[in-house]
Amino acid sequence: TTPIETLEFQSEARQLLQLMIHSIYSNKDTFLRELVSNASDALDKLRLEAYRDKDLEADTTDLHITLESDPAERTLTVRDNGIGMTREEVVALIGTIAKSGTADFLTKLKEAKDAAASQDLIGQFGVGFYASFMVADKVTLVTRKAGSAEGVRWESDGEGTYTIQEVEDAPQGTAVTLHLKPEDAEDHLYDYTSPAKIREIVKKYSDFITWPIRMAGEGEDAAPETVNSMKALWARSSSEVSEDEYHEFYKHVSHDWQDPLETIRLQAEGTFEYQALLFLPSHAPMDLFLRERKRGVQLYVKRVFIMDDCESLVPEYLRFVKGVVDAQDLSLNVSREILQQDRQIQLIRRRLVKKVLSTVKTMMTADAEKYATFWREFGRAVKEGLLDDFENREAILEISSFASTNDAEKPTSLRDYVSRMKEGQEHIYFMTGESRSAIENSPHMEAFRAKGFEVLVLTDPIDEMWVDGVGGFDGKQFQSIAKGQVDLESEEDKKSTEVAREQQKKDFEGLLSWMGTALGEDVKEVRLSSRLTTSPACIVGDTHDLTPTLEKMYRAMGQ
Ligand code: ADP
Ligand code: MG
Repeated sequence: TTPIETLEFQSEARQLLQLMIHSIYSNKDTFLRELVSNASDALDKLRLEAYRDKDLEADTTDLHITLESDPAERTLTVRDNGIGMTREEVVALIGTIAKSGTADFLTKLKEAKDAAASQDLIGQFGVGFYASFMVADKVTLVTRKAGSAEGVRWESDGEGTYTIQEVEDAPQGTAVTLHLKPEDAEDHLYDYTSPAKIREIVKKYSDFITWPIRMAGEGEDAAPETVNSMKALWARSSSEVSEDEYHEFYKHVSHDWQDPLETIRLQAEGTFEYQALLFLPSHAPMDLFLRERKRGVQLYVKRVFIMDDCESLVPEYLRFVKGVVDAQDLSLNVSREILQQDRQIQLIRRRLVKKVLSTVKTMMTADAEKYATFWREFGRAVKEGLLDDFENREAILEISSFASTNDAEKPTSLRDYVSRMKEGQEHIYFMTGESRSAIENSPHMEAFRAKGFEVLVLTDPIDEMWVDGVGGFDGKQFQSIAKGQVDLESEEDKKSTEVAREQQKKDFEGLLSWMGTALGEDVKEVRLSSRLTTSPACIVGDTHDLTPTLEKMYRAMGQ
């Protein structure tokens, strides 16, 4: 036999395990969902691998998941005959957390005020395999990679270290054995060796898994029973599928522990057939704005899993959309590179984008609160689409909301802004800046406030980038209140003030030209303005100048 090695968990993993051992997450049943989800992924991967590599020496004749319980030993084993892991993979995948945003998550967790807040964060993060330690005080994992001869045995009590050892005769795939905590032994709520309990959890959380989940049949030599219905949700008619089923499926594909905000179904028949089942999450992932973030939905071809994070199916600005697309006419051999060029994929993508945007638009009126959540979580990402999705620009503007001087608490849609525009107002006024207070206290705001014009308060860095490019909305141009000449007076006012203005110009001519000379290189021109009411002076940019914030950004980038 080979020696047993003891290794340390990576520090992030250690912190997460501590949380699981002390289980501040109240719904312990979810551990089984996670293990079954991993087993299902492993079977998907093996089927695909075997299809692509005809020489792979793997057994794919009866791919399935088995649940075995032993009440006397108080163990529960989740077994699959899927892809398995090599020793290196076990160390890298089980001993560490490779998820981006982990450090950020742990910091937030430390700052969490109470158990409820911590639980909410864990729900957003999703802890996967480590959920085992909510119910087990020792976990043993035995695995053999499909096509390889060497098996690996991993074991840990979750307290800082694990052991790893090569083993012979390990079956292909992975078996995870949980040694259940003795303190739960008396509590029937946590009786995870009871077949009835296990069955109930599988039905509730994993029914849609497309591989058979088997348990020993009742009675002496009864055949094993399959306990899940195995139907691909996206292939069933939507009237047949309950909301709970959609939600559990969402958790499986997204690795999120919380319910989605919205479920979207799409079906195309005819020459190019496909089904899509998409979800808008209820919260932004930790890595939404990180460089190494993932994007995209799962791609299936005729019910066969092809890839995770298929980026060709969704544009960057909709990277938070989760779900599945099942296309009937693609080759199982497609690669990411081929997909990028594929005309059918481009067509699906166009339709998905339109469907997502129209779903959000409906949400705006049908469920304002839901929409507000959506926009709070994903608005910053969606606005990136204004820069590069020319085709859908108007639709993106339509579903966008912005802080405005109309209501300090509630953002406004552009449609609502336009409906409040004053008689004779031609432009949608906005100001960009670093914060709401900076914008509201800006001298540029004075005349607009005094005259009762509503101004959009744009504080996201991305706002600086799109406002100049988009042109207008509903035929109204966007106009920065900090740039160029802003004409706030009506025709009548103009006539009556024109005379006075001429006089003022004469009176101040000397002062203006003196100031112009005194300020020399720093300004282009000094002129009288109608934009101020209480401040004596303000600096404005020319219409085509950069905004101060953009100037700062460019300077910071060394340009
Ligand atoms: P996630 O499923 O979100 O990636 P997990 O903590 O559940 O995170 O699992 C971590 C990784 O360990 C998986 O991504 C997978 O690569 C590997 N893994 C876990 N369980 C299995 C299994 N039964 N078979 C093969 N690989 C597995
Ligand atoms: Mg998992």
